[in-house]
Amino acid sequence: MIIVLIGPPGSGKSTQGHLLSEEYHIPFIGVGDLVRDMIHSDENEYESKVNSGNLLPDNVVFGIVKTELDKYDLQLGVLLEGYPRTIGQAELLDEYLLKKRVKLNQALYLNNVPQKQISDRIAGRYQCQSCGATFSKEQVPPDFVCERCGTLLIPRKDDTSESLLCRMKEYQKKSLPVCEYYEKTDRLCSVDASRSIEDVFELSKRCLEKG
Ligand SMILES: [Zn+2]
Repeated sequence: MIIVLIGPPGSGKSTQGHLLSEEYHIPFIGVGDLVRDMIHSDENEYESKVNSGNLLPDNVVFGIVKTELDKYDLQLGVLLEGYPRTIGQAELLDEYLLKKRVKLNQALYLNNVPQKQISDRIAGRYQCQSCGATFSKEQVPPDFVCERCGTLLIPRKDDTSESLLCRMKEYQKKSLPVCEYYEKTDRLCSVDASRSIEDVFELSKRCLEKG
């Protein structure tokens, strides 16, 4: 099963992605984290763009995704979280999958997340300055020290309220057409993400198994 999981910042994509990847025994690829790792490991022209909440060019993001996808046997399935964010990215993925003779089963869209819930979920996220690992409010260790490498954690740079507003705008402008793109080809499955983690997980499974 090949799934993409899309939704606005703070919609719980990462949580649901990990649950679904465990449920279906398919690798989880968190594209947002990969992008952050890339700009973190390599101080480059993209860092300020991403920190201010803008999207990277489609071919750059797809390059990162392709490197990951190439590591797996796609016949066995995979889950991409936080990708695609634009129609261009969706098309690049479809072309790639066609060449690999596999197809995307479903685009799972976490819909209907109230603005308030998004701000609450995003407030309080921390990131490691050294390895780039991110921690949600609930995951932050009490001593604020990274569990992966022992460095002190700082609030995530792209989680400021101006940046969030900017990301929401970018999101709406570019990602809603992505939903339409999948809807036209009958691969969109939309889930009410304002409900509890357990409910959203159940709804998502039902959606995916139907598709
Ligand atoms: Zn670390």
